[in-house]
Amino acid sequence: MDRTSYDAGAIERERQEKWGARGAFSTPEPGAERLPTYIKPSSPFTSGKLHMGHVRDYAIGDAYARFRRARGDAVLFGFGFDAFGLPAEMAAIERHVRPADWVRECGERMLAQMKRLGFSFDYERVFYSSDPSQYRWSQWLFLTLLEAGLIYRDDATVDWCDHCRTTLAALQVEDGRCWRCHNEVRLIRKPTWFLRIAPYLEENDRRLGELENWDEISLSTQRYILGRSEGVELDLTAGDRNLAVFTPHAESASQATFLLLSPRHPDVERLAPAPEVREALDELRSGGWERSARDAKAVPIVEAGTSASAPWAADPLPILVSPLVDARYGPTAALGIPAVDETDATIAGRVPGIRLEPTSSPPNSQPDVEPSTRPAVRYRASDFSISRQRYWGTPIPIVHCEQCGVVPVLTEDLPVVLPVDVEPTGEGNPLAERPNFVDVACPSCGAPARRETDTLDCHFDALWLWVPSAVPPAARDAEMFTHPDLRSWLPAARLVAGSDSGGFVFDQRVVTKALRDIGPFAFMEEGEPFAGCLFHEMVIADGRKMSKHLGNVVDPDELVERYGADTVRLAILYAAGPAKTLNWNDGALRFASRFLHSLWEYTHRRLETVAEATDDEAAAADTGFLRERLRKWCDNGLGRIAADTEELQMHKAVRNVTRLFERIQDFEKRVIKRRGELSRADAEAQLESLGLLAEALVPFAPHAGETILRALQRRSVEAG
Ligand SMILES: [Zn+2]
Ligand SMILES: [Zn+2]
Repeated sequence: MDRTSYDAGAIERERQEKWGARGAFSTPEPGAERLPTYIKPSSPFTSGKLHMGHVRDYAIGDAYARFRRARGDAVLFGFGFDAFGLPAEMAAIERHVRPADWVRECGERMLAQMKRLGFSFDYERVFYSSDPSQYRWSQWLFLTLLEAGLIYRDDATVDWCDHCRTTLAALQVEDGRCWRCHNEVRLIRKPTWFLRIAPYLEENDRRLGELENWDEISLSTQRYILGRSEGVELDLTAGDRNLAVFTPHAESASQATFLLLSPRHPDVERLAPAPEVREALDELRSGGWERSARDAKAVPIVEAGTSASAPWAADPLPILVSPLVDARYGPTAALGIPAVDETDATIAGRVPGIRLEPTSSPPNSQPDVEPSTRPAVRYRASDFSISRQRYWGTPIPIVHCEQCGVVPVLTEDLPVVLPVDVEPTGEGNPLAERPNFVDVACPSCGAPARRETDTLDCHFDALWLWVPSAVPPAARDAEMFTHPDLRSWLPAARLVAGSDSGGFVFDQRVVTKALRDIGPFAFMEEGEPFAGCLFHEMVIADGRKMSKHLGNVVDPDELVERYGADTVRLAILYAAGPAKTLNWNDGALRFASRFLHSLWEYTHRRLETVAEATDDEAAAADTGFLRERLRKWCDNGLGRIAADTEELQMHKAVRNVTRLFERIQDFEKRVIKRRGELSRADAEAQLESLGLLAEALVPFAPHAGETILRALQRRSVEAG
């Protein structure tokens, strides 16, 4: 190989072979002498192939993993595929293949791309959430949370296509029509499984203040999902009972003119007893109100026909039921105070008979009583549905028995295996149509019973997808949640994920706390799965989201083919800070390409010429102060690069790498200006600086960085 010109393809092939041969990325034993550092990248969907967003995610995580390894830490950098779910099922339907085959094909393709990009995952630890050995633990988690009272069954509104005889997810409904047959869909109520998160909202909120290595985007998405409102709680009388109500307007409680109740409030049946009101409420619940709940002008309102009273209110407060409460404060009751709250004023304007202000009580007729309040907090975040009427997902380990009702499958009978020889068409429910799946003996009484045919949403699998990498593959069957290594690796040092992962992370934080309280994760006292977290924005092109339709998709394979993996990695890191949307353009690519070419050529030229430099003591003494300055530049530059990398601000780190190179070149210019040529001491000092620079470059452009570093080390060994 001609060593003086930069041939990315040849260099990268050679490096990758060497890494593979020496198992460079195998996870070390998490012993006591080296700091265990688990870096968790996002778990990709098996969605076809890697896109630029993935490359951004893994380039950041990989740079950090390599940086921590170089510092001597024991690094775990593993990942797995979030392989179940709708995108894979829809892709399989379109291609007339089995989802299991499609997932395997995508996974293998994506793994090959990751290897070509030089990402230093421990590929021995890769997992697919759709493997039975994996989803049996999703089923175990379901049963564990069910037993702890954190999973329950309730009705939910879902879209239904009469023609395809199936429920549809939101992304399968286009303008009210079925994605597959284009017939109109309608809303129906179906029993669904829910995850109860309410018991952990307060703690998820409180712990946010303790999370030190979380960047601002990741924290703000957690706050947004919580939807915390501070205010006061006070007691009203409704019927013969006390009703606690919330308002964020502590000073204005006495100006309330109505009461707004969530349709999910536990007292709603009692407070809205009239048959016609019940009917109106049923209609509201089946109307898909979740979609319009945020708009006070359009959100449905049902008059309960009852009222609540308080000593400080001159008139009773009429009760209205509306999901608007849920959208603002969660499933609670709230005072309507049109005088100070714009949304309440909009509501009051829509319901005849609701006043904008309370009637002032006639003078001296009643003593002035101030509402007695206590501080209170409400959260908008609420329980969510975890089951879907779909084929491609983790089977729910439940049996429906006529005698016993809903019966959990025994844990020793897990996994409940999903049949894989299914080619879904999008019509009906493939699982319900398979007698050998559906017909089963009741685990409790032995009578003939029916298996649950809903599957778990892949969001449920994701609740624990940060766990498997931390367990050696051979131990996963028996010890997924109990293996001793978990205590070393968890909590993960850093999660690196897209800024749209806030919901996943929020629910992972809930489940960690639940598993701490239930027992398996008792060693994680804070109940936090990630000690640090970085959310990055997406990669777009021409100012718009990349899409086939717009013809602006940037294909990482083509770029790697043309420029090499290092250039692509360096460009994507350099182009924007993680908190900014990266609008892809070739400028960053050209910059990275130019930098790598010139560093490569410069270093090899110096290597070739160093022996010819004259070894002149007087000349060396004359430029001593310049060498001293070069050393300082290196010290400062390397310090800054390390600090930037530790904060995962890789765009700054890369910029500082390129600046340091400029300074090393500048050193040469200054020496030549002074003496006309480099002395041996100057050339050696420069090679030493280039070695430091190559070492700093390794996390970002590992193939070129390591190859340059080795060439320099080889020479110093030969020079003895
Ligand atoms: Zn249809
Ligand atoms: Zn039974």
